Amino acid sequence: MNFRKWSDPLAMTKEELPGKNWTAILLAWFDRNKRDLPWREDKPRNPYHVWISEIMLQQTRTEAVKPYFVSWMEHFPTIHDLAKADEADVLHQWQGLGYYTRARNIHRAAREMEEKYGGHLPENKEEILSLPGIGGYTAGAILSMAYGKKEGAIDGNVLRVYARLYAVEEDILKRRGRKTIESLVKETLPNRAGDFNEALMDLGAEICIPRSPRCESCPLLSRCRAFHEGKEKELPKRTPKKPQKEEEAACAIVVREGKVLLHKRPSKGMLASMWEFPMVLSGSAEKARTALETALSGKAGECLWQYRHVFTHRIWHMKAYRMEASHIPEGEYGWYSPEEYRELPLAGPHARLAAFVEQLVRQRS
Ligand code: SF4
Repeated sequence: MNFRKWSDPLAMTKEELPGKNWTAILLAWFDRNKRDLPWREDKPRNPYHVWISEIMLQQTRTEAVKPYFVSWMEHFPTIHDLAKADEADVLHQWQGLGYYTRARNIHRAAREMEEKYGGHLPENKEEILSLPGIGGYTAGAILSMAYGKKEGAIDGNVLRVYARLYAVEEDILKRRGRKTIESLVKETLPNRAGDFNEALMDLGAEICIPRSPRCESCPLLSRCRAFHEGKEKELPKRTPKKPQKEEEAACAIVVREGKVLLHKRPSKGMLASMWEFPMVLSGSAEKARTALETALSGKAGECLWQYRHVFTHRIWHMKAYRMEASHIPEGEYGWYSPEEYRELPLAGPHARLAAFVEQLVRQRS
C-alpha cells in the first residue's frame, strides 16, 4: 500500500503541518496503546519510581531495565532505604546496567534528599536540578509525571519525533537545533504534560524509531511534515560520531585453592571502585600481555577467553590468560571464591569473564 498517497493531511499545506491538534491525537493514541511498564503501575505515580526508572532508561533498553527496576525496588523500597545502603550494595544492584556513575549519583542524591528533604524528591525544579545526576530531562519527567506540572522532558526520542513532525533541518545535536526543538516543545505542551511526555517516549520507542520509522502504524502520519515530504528517513540530521578509541586489554586468571585474584579499581575515573580481574591496557595485544606478565611476575599461559566490549567512547579488545602470579602489585587486591565475588560490583565486561571463570573453577574442583 502506498501510505504516502493514502494519507490525506486534510488539505493542510506543508507549512501548516503538523497542525494544532496533533497533541490531542497523540494523547488519544497513548490512552489506547500505552506500554505496561512496572514503573507505570502506581496511581498516583510514585516520584521515586519515576526517578529511578528514568535514570535506568538512559542508555539502556526498556526490556533490559524492567527486571532491574523490580529487583531494585525490592532491595531499596524507599529513598530512605537507598540512602542508608552501602555504596557496594548499590553498585551490586546496578551491575549489568553499565555507566556506573548513574548508580553513584543516585546514591548521593538519595542521601541528599534524606538530609535536606526528609527522604522525598522535592517538587521544586531548581531543587531537583541541584541533585547529583538529575538533568533537565529527568527533572521534567519527574515534575510532569509524578507532580502533574506542565514541564517538557526532552530526550533523544523527543528530539527525533519533533524533528520529523516539523521537518527541522538543523542538526538537533547542536545548540541551535536543540533550541528550535525546545521552543516547539514549549509552544505545543498540552495540560496533560506527564502523559504527553510518555506518549512521545512510547511513540519514539515503538514507531518513530531511529533508522526506519514505522510510519504506516503512526497516529501522526497525516500530520507529519517529514512524511509529507518523504524525508522521514533523512531526518533528524546526524553529526557523524568521533571514532571510538580502541584498546587491547590483557587480563589474568590467577586461581589458588578455588579462589581467583581480583583487583578493586581506583575510587575515581572510569568504572571507579568496581572489581576486575588484574588487567593491563595497551595499544597492542602483545604489549598488554607483556606488561601484565611484568606486573604479576608470571608467564601468561593459554588465552582462555576473548571478548570485545563496546563503551560509549572506547572499545576494549579483551583477552584473558591463565597465569601464575609470584608478585601482587600495589593496590587493593584480594582472593575470592565464585560465591564471594558474585556479591562484588564487577566492572562491566569483568562480570562476563567472572561467569566464565566460575564454570572453569567448578569443573576443576
Ligand atoms: S509519520 Fe513517520 S516520521 Fe512522522 S512521526 Fe510518525 S513515524 Fe515519525
